[in-house]
Amino acid sequence: MRIGIIALLSLFILGCGEKPAETSAVAAEKQQNFKWKLVTTWPKNYPGLGSAPENFAKKVEAMSGGRLQVKVFGAGQLVPAFEVFDAVSQGTAQMGHGASYYWTGKSKATGFFTAVPFGLNAQEMNGWLHYGGGLELWRELYDQFNLIPFAGGSTGVQMAGWFNREINSMEDIKGLKMRIPGLGGDVITRAGGISVTMPGGELYTSMQTGVIDATEWVGPYNDLAFGFHQVAKYYYYPGWHEPGPILELIVNKDAYATLPADLKAIVETAARAVNQDMLDEYTARNNTALVELVETHGVDVRKLPDEVIAELSRLSDEVLAELATDSEIAQRIAESVAAFKQQAMAYHGISEEAYYNARNQ
Ligand code: CA
Repeated sequence: MRIGIIALLSLFILGCGEKPAETSAVAAEKQQNFKWKLVTTWPKNYPGLGSAPENFAKKVEAMSGGRLQVKVFGAGQLVPAFEVFDAVSQGTAQMGHGASYYWTGKSKATGFFTAVPFGLNAQEMNGWLHYGGGLELWRELYDQFNLIPFAGGSTGVQMAGWFNREINSMEDIKGLKMRIPGLGGDVITRAGGISVTMPGGELYTSMQTGVIDATEWVGPYNDLAFGFHQVAKYYYYPGWHEPGPILELIVNKDAYATLPADLKAIVETAARAVNQDMLDEYTARNNTALVELVETHGVDVRKLPDEVIAELSRLSDEVLAELATDSEIAQRIAESVAAFKQQAMAYHGISEEAYYNARNQ
């Protein structure tokens, strides 16, 4: 009996001994500070696009009580704009902010996650990503690059772009040298144009010197900030190629794995917050910027002819069909987007679209 009591006491003492050890391990984890670098494809502090990563960094630092500090680098400060993907993949920086369609050279399927021509608008993209299986597919695609993507903002429907050539028919697109990345660029190429991809910071000079005849960028708020009205004759709509583009926050997978659960939750929550915040900002600021472009700067705003839109739509279907054959995952993403679009069109036909029509009567 005495031996039994001693054994029980020993267990009790051992048990007591373990508990403080566990608590101190958790406490130590909570005291660990992280200093991360976030590289972007935008000029430092660029309105809208560039403010999302800055806001993300501020939110993360505030929510974590300074345990996770994120330093934001604009394009060219740590790495050039188009090296953001590699820098985060390799761990030179722990995070990046940009657009997935800049990385079609890595995998063609990356193009799906910024924008599909004649595809989902901002509201629908967010629905597809967060409740329609889109984000899971995006993460599956990026896993091979050691990256975890998060939605990192949306601009809403963009403008077709700035042109120094009138677009009256498809003939006018032949030979047109236009900056237009991603799947929209593939459509312009198929239409006989020459699509090029270059970072935003190079567009003004390229338009001014005639290196390109046209450029899409974002919409009134961002386009006014770059001053494209000074170097282009016509401002065309609608943004058929980017109806609701989503930007990306990418995280190096190994770096993410080192974060305790609460900091992971903070990263996720801050990303979701800046994703919505950007759309709110553009929804408010595009309106006033358009007024300024037209009334102060006399910008010639034009609608693309209906027959051009119809032909671009037909060519977009061809581009998407071809992309779906690129890989097994591209096929699955294409099917997922197409199914979501079909359902969204059916419901939005009697909700959003019906309401717009009603409001315009
Ligand atoms: Ca764009």
